[in-house]
Amino acid sequence: MNHEKTIENLYEKVKRIDSKGDLASYIPELANVNSESFGVYISTINSSTFGVGNYSDKFSIQSIAKVLSLSLAYRIIGENIWKRVGVEPSGTAFNSLIQLEADKGIPRNPFINAGAIVVADILISNLDNPKEDFLAFVRGISNDSEINYSTDISLSEKSVGFRNVALCNLIKSFGNIENDPSDVLDFYFHLCSLEMNCKQLSELFIFLANDGCSLFEGKEILSQSQSKRVNALMQTCGFYDESGEFAFKVGLPSKSGVGGGIVAIHPKQYTIAVWSPRLNKKGNSYKGIKFLEEFTTKTKLSIF
Ligand code: GLU
Repeated sequence: MNHEKTIENLYEKVKRIDSKGDLASYIPELANVNSESFGVYISTINSSTFGVGNYSDKFSIQSIAKVLSLSLAYRIIGENIWKRVGVEPSGTAFNSLIQLEADKGIPRNPFINAGAIVVADILISNLDNPKEDFLAFVRGISNDSEINYSTDISLSEKSVGFRNVALCNLIKSFGNIENDPSDVLDFYFHLCSLEMNCKQLSELFIFLANDGCSLFEGKEILSQSQSKRVNALMQTCGFYDESGEFAFKVGLPSKSGVGGGIVAIHPKQYTIAVWSPRLNKKGNSYKGIKFLEEFTTKTKLSIF
């Protein structure tokens, strides 16, 4: 790994910055983390790895899981998926209801909550045991049987998930949800509750840096073309209504979650996972963005 010193120096620099932002306390269980946690882990497609800080502490990956559910649904139903969900940035908050009415229940993209709820519905229609099968798919990518859902987080989110209930019902009213909304939401809350650490996250997502193939036994998770498209969606929609600013500052396809995690992909080179739970006003990790901005600036390792 060529950039160990740079990563260490930037880590120390960003760690010292005044902690701005708040924990995602709208899901009560997410407030039970150490707000000063900060970890970074990088994996390259040549199998070099390096981590600093709290990279082995597990956290709730939340919306980052939407990339994995999209990947499985895309693998199963192929291009038909785009009849049910769009590929445009929304320019609205992750949990917004505003555009759905005008767009007749077709969410703008698979990474806003509305889109991920439709993807969850597609998976329920296509899997025998959605929760078990999805977990097996995720574990199989990097051969990591330690990855699991958190029941505490999924129950906590269910107890306050009123906007997601509204989104699912509104989409159902337009005919774009096939299954019972309570089953769809239960599955959605589970997939958002997946827990892992920065090391597991960066190792899991390496298939998106490697033309869709995992490093573990070279398994094809997505075709090269599908992998390109998922990366494109991460680039344009991975940070909700901060996607433009994130691309401007960092220049890597990435996905954030309200647990404070970010995974960023440099196609054909590396994945880097960052975790710092304090979020900015748009719901993205404050220090996570700062670190990645400094990292791609210093190393010149961005796609632009
Ligand atoms: N489970 C979260 C929600 O539905 C996901 C949001 C996020 O991570 O951005 O509110």
